[in-house]
Amino acid sequence: MNSGKANLAGMALKQVEIAARYLPRIEPGMLEKIKHTKREIIVHFPVRMDDGSVQVFEGYRVQHNDTRGAFKGGLRFHPGIDLDEMKALSMLMTWKAAIVNVPFGGAKGGVKCDPRVMSPRELEKMTRRYTWEISPFIGPETDILAPDLGTNPQVMAWIMDTFSMKKGHPVPGIVTGKPLELGGSQGRLEATARGLLVVAERAARLMGMAIKDARVAIQGAGNVGGTAARLFSRAGARVVAISDINGGIYNSRGLDVAKALQCKQDNDCFTKGEIDGDEISNEELLQTECDILVPAAIENQITEGNAGTLRCRMIIEGANGPTTPAADAVLKQKDIYLIPDILANAGGIVVSYFEWVQNLQELLWSEDEIYQRLRKILFRAFDEVTALSEKQQVDMRTAATILGIGRIVEAARLRGIFP
Ligand code: NAD
Repeated sequence: MNSGKANLAGMALKQVEIAARYLPRIEPGMLEKIKHTKREIIVHFPVRMDDGSVQVFEGYRVQHNDTRGAFKGGLRFHPGIDLDEMKALSMLMTWKAAIVNVPFGGAKGGVKCDPRVMSPRELEKMTRRYTWEISPFIGPETDILAPDLGTNPQVMAWIMDTFSMKKGHPVPGIVTGKPLELGGSQGRLEATARGLLVVAERAARLMGMAIKDARVAIQGAGNVGGTAARLFSRAGARVVAISDINGGIYNSRGLDVAKALQCKQDNDCFTKGEIDGDEISNEELLQTECDILVPAAIENQITEGNAGTLRCRMIIEGANGPTTPAADAVLKQKDIYLIPDILANAGGIVVSYFEWVQNLQELLWSEDEIYQRLRKILFRAFDEVTALSEKQQVDMRTAATILGIGRIVEAARLRGIFP
């Protein structure tokens, strides 16, 4: 398994430079501006643990760009995070919001911790104290948080409560991805995975392929990967492999997804129950013969080292940054069609935008309304990126980055430089 610690910041900057070649009118100074974050907040704070000891945690909130709207981005709880990773992920969020054309900028946050070894009480205290420390810099009009790796609707609820206590009134718009009971949106939990399926359907049509009976391999079984497995399976695809951090399971005839996910939930493992399939490693999962590969765990999984061994026709990036630039080049040679993270997993930010709009205007949209609107936005973004990729003769990642950066630079030009 790859550790995920490649230089994500270097990858993101490289992507900017590639896209900039196709945007000749960008002033060098403006390019320099978007290569930098606007603000990087690092906090250290104590939490009293269940055994009575005090542990000091390091937390981050990086705000990359708010030219087109309030900062928006996920919150990660993971032992391996660092400032560079936050910077890169905040940059990807800025491009993503611009690609799907929602009025947000990009941010990312995290706390260096291992949520799997913490009790719910410790997690709650850590979340609340982190929120308190960054609260001068966040707000429904300035910076809105959302779930990401290691966080979930419960964590969002604690953030919302802590922020609201400070303000003296409920502020549901401070987070998206919260429970429905607190102003969460229908469909938000499934949004990222649903977006993957929407984009996969569009891409499959272009390739003359059908989702029905397509063989799908999914790395990661959390909010994005686990939900994608359910949705692809419901759409008639054959999910032939799925994994989590401990490894995965494979069955060429297709797995019983509900049973496999239940087994993981009960045993923290796919193969301890009575599941019809063979144990595989994460590396083997990536090399599975399939039609669609969905990396939906962490960054830096498809590298120059293993890209040559992949046996899929299409990659739909559920995770942020799962493929390195060197691997991109190998995949291109192998004629593997790749839908990049900044387009493929944008369903999350789109439905987050819907949740935020509903909170600010006190509206309640039905699940059906949400999905119709989501499809419309993702179809349009997919078609715009595809058209640009054909026009400029570039891959989908470069086309998406050109589209996103182009919109941000134009907005910055219109706003001008203060003072
Ligand atoms: P999650 O914590 O719910 O699930 C992560 C999954 O990845 C788990 O199954 C975990 O076991 C697995 N995993 C962790 N480390 C791994 C490793 N080293 N090798 C293999 N598997 C590993 O997180 P999530 O919300 O599903 O996010 C997954 C990815 O999708 C992240 O890159 C995240 O940034 C991205 N993403 C999430 C959202 C969202 O709405 N949640 C939106 C856009 C992008």
